[in-house]
Amino acid sequence: MKTPDVKKIRKAMEKIQDEKRYEHTLGVAYTATCLAMRYDESLKNAELAGLLHDCAKCLSDEKRLTICKKHNISVNDIERRNPFLLHAKVGSFLAMDEYHVRDFDIINAILYHTTGRPEMSMLEKIIFVADYIEPCRKQAPNLREIRRLAFVDLDAALLKILSDTLHYLEDSEGEIDPMTRKTYEYYASQARKKERSNR
Ligand code: FE
Ligand code: FE
Repeated sequence: MKTPDVKKIRKAMEKIQDEKRYEHTLGVAYTATCLAMRYDESLKNAELAGLLHDCAKCLSDEKRLTICKKHNISVNDIERRNPFLLHAKVGSFLAMDEYHVRDFDIINAILYHTTGRPEMSMLEKIIFVADYIEPCRKQAPNLREIRRLAFVDLDAALLKILSDTLHYLEDSEGEIDPMTRKTYEYYASQARKKERSNR
């Protein structure tokens, strides 16, 4: 069985992504690797998931929809209206199909990197947070604080990212994937539980 080769995947991403996206990809890969060091997660899995998380981002909307249709990947109404949202689903499919990833934790980290989900694994949280804080990001509010927090309390960083993302989408009237809200509510209630038990 072919196993994924980090170097080859890095080269493949350089080839299929435009310069800005590739810089972001490298930023996520090494930020995820650092977080993996901090939180005792597999460095290799963090690097692989980081490299592949946006592997479907440089495809056209048509191409993403065609891949979904061909491989029976479900597309909901929000995704049909905003096919760029599909890059996570299509990316996790390509990770398996084209890049020979067999580790489900990596595949899920790619699949949930935009919305998160309740009960994320450590690797899923690492990729979600790394995607938001990697050094090329400049726009998001509270970046300084979130970058610091990520290495102190990953769940707190995750919650802050989710609430900032929801506020941003509400203000910009962007369409919100219901999963983002679900994830936020789950982690907000976890944080409340933690606070109560610390009292
Ligand atoms: Fe993405
Ligand atoms: Fe990304």
